[in-house]
Parts: sequence; C-alpha cells; structure tokens
Amino acid sequence: MKLLKEQNNFRILPTLIHQGKEVIINGQRMLNLSSNDYLGLANDTVLLNAFWQTVKPEEVKFSSSSSRLLTGNFAAYGELEDLLSSLFGTEAALVFNCGYHANTGILPAVCNTKTLILADKLVHASLIDGIRLSEAKCIRYRHNEYSQLERLVETHHKQYEQVIIVTESIFSMDGDEADLPRLVKLKQKYPNILLYVDEAHAVGVRGTGGLGCAEAYGCIADIDFLVGTFGKALASSGAYIVCRQVIRDYLINKMRPFIFTTGLPPVTLQWTSFVLRHLAGYQAKREHLAAIGNRLRAALREKGYSSASVSQIVPMVAGESATALQIAKELQRKGFYALPVRPPTVPEGTSRIRFSLTADVTDEEVEKLISIVNDNR
Ligand code: PMP
Repeated sequence: MKLLKEQNNFRILPTLIHQGKEVIINGQRMLNLSSNDYLGLANDTVLLNAFWQTVKPEEVKFSSSSSRLLTGNFAAYGELEDLLSSLFGTEAALVFNCGYHANTGILPAVCNTKTLILADKLVHASLIDGIRLSEAKCIRYRHNEYSQLERLVETHHKQYEQVIIVTESIFSMDGDEADLPRLVKLKQKYPNILLYVDEAHAVGVRGTGGLGCAEAYGCIADIDFLVGTFGKALASSGAYIVCRQVIRDYLINKMRPFIFTTGLPPVTLQWTSFVLRHLAGYQAKREHLAAIGNRLRAALREKGYSSASVSQIVPMVAGESATALQIAKELQRKGFYALPVRPPTVPEGTSRIRFSLTADVTDEEVEKLISIVNDNR
C-alpha cells in the first residue's frame, strides 16, 4: 500500500452522480470522457422507453436464480443467441455474464498441454488471466508486430497440435487496431492455427452493421473465437462468442465461468437483444464518433502527443504517473472527466490520459477540450 501511494498508483473508488453524458463529483459537473458507452445508448431515454413498451411489467425478471445448466436458461437466452448467430452469420453463439468471464474461461476450456498460445503483448488483463489458467504454453509477441509473430508460428507450429493467436481488434488502452486481414492470411497458411479476437471496443463502433472490425474486413468466418462484450457500446452487460457449433458445445461442457455461475437476469438479455436489433441503424453515430476521434487525434499530434490510435479511444501519454494525475486534475477542474491510466494497467513510464469518446460528445465540446490541452513540445 505504502509503495503504491509513493508511486502515485494508489486507487480509490470515486463516488459520482450520472446525469446523461455528464458526471457530478464533489459538486463539480464534468463531461464524461471516461465511459465506454461509445454510441451514447446508455443515456438514450427514448430507446429505453421504447424497450419498456416491449415487455410486460409482471413478466420482467431481474434474476435468473440459477446456472444456465440448471433452471437459469430462460427463453431470452435462446432469442439472444439466435439473433447473434443470424447477425454474424455463424453456426452458433454463446452468451456469458461478462467479458471477464469469457476471456478467463474460453482459453482454459479449449487448451491443453499440446496447445501453443501466441498472444499480443498488450492484450487485456482478462485474456492474460485466461492464458494463465490454461494448460497451454504461451509466448507473447510484441504489440502488432506480425513479422515476429510469423517467425514464431513458423518455428513452433509443428511441435503443437494447435496454435491459437490471441488479439484484441481495437486495443483498449492505445485505441489502435490489429491487422485482422493479415492475421487471417497467416492462419490460412497453416493447418493448425486458430484465431481468437476480442472485439470489446469495436462492437457497435465498426462495421456497417456495427458488428465490429471482423465485419468491416469481411472476415467473421475466418475467426474461430470471435468474442465481444455488451457492457460498452451496447449499453447492457454480458459478453458473447460467435463460433462453430462444436466450440459452443465444448464450452457449455468445459468452461468453468460458464458452468459455475448464475445466469444473467432475463431482462438484461431482452434489453441486449433489443439494442442489437437497432445496431445496424446507428451508422450516423458511428460516423460522428469516427470524425471526433480523428479531430482530437490530429489536434493532439499537433500539440506534440504521438499515438497510434485509430479509434474513439484516444490516449495522451504523459509518462510518469504523477504527471498523468496532474493533467487529469487540471482537465477535471476545467469540466472534462478524463482519467489517468497508470501501471499495472499500462506499462511503467507510459501513464496516460485515456480519452474515451462517445457519440453524444459534440464537435464544440471536442474543440473546447482541444483548446485547453497544453502543448507537449
Ligand atoms: N476485453 C476487453 C478488451 C476489455 O477492455 C474488457 C473490459 N474493459 C473486457 C474484455 C471485460 O469485459 P467485461 O467488462 O464485460 O467484463
């Protein structure tokens, strides 16, 4: 604890009041630039009211009261999974309580000692925990460095029954993107490679139907484990995999965070299906989100902050944790709730402000933000 405090890495839970896209903390009202509500749907009261018209109050269930393998498998699960597999055009889909469950459960279920996992250095903590819980051997490749990955595949693929390449599509802390077409090409060169892609930050945001980067690049069918979450752009909670039937069957039988947990509340599943049905219609929101991301990124570059971001996640790397904390405080004082991200979430020396834009942020708000960010040159 003492060390964490000395290093400016001690964390406390903030108490905040939400009012639409703003938050109020200690009486101060700020624009929320730290939410993953990328399409602004969590604040869309019109959408929420429309949803309540579709359910009967006496039938609303806030608990499934049991694991899905016992009595928790409500009809709303089947409806959501059918909807997912038809939208993505896959044989099957399976829903989990959250992305953390998905990522910590899928790899341990499908790997054994004859599996090699090749994981991007910057994959999310939930994937790292999943890898640790699995029996597979794992090698991490440098972030988005595919020539190194290709060498690793070439060197090792013959020694293992299966090789699973694990990546995010849009990376959560840098907002940059994996090269999915290149990964698919690599996979197609070998008989025993599988692809695992976490689209937590891309679903809702990318693709003409809002289904993520795999949709945008036309490679959904090439990805063996295509995972996404509902707690970000979809304004709900839970997670999914779209996959082959055999993988779904296997997970139901082997995946511990699927088996040993109470299912999601049926009303949550119904809300998720409701939002998913509207997803293709949000192209204007996706375009606005991309435009304000481009504008903020270009302005930060002009001010001397370099970043590889290509998305709504726009980091502003400050270096030391103390500097990031100081900048965040200043931004907050001026009405922008942007948070510092520090180790262990990001590597030492790369503490940053992570601007997380949402579609309900206006052009004017972005311009105001830009005008108060100090030069870094
Ligand atoms: N994957 C990624 C890339 C994430 O960023 C997160 C959450 N921040 C998760 C998985 C976990 O998802 P959930 O919040 O639904 O547990």
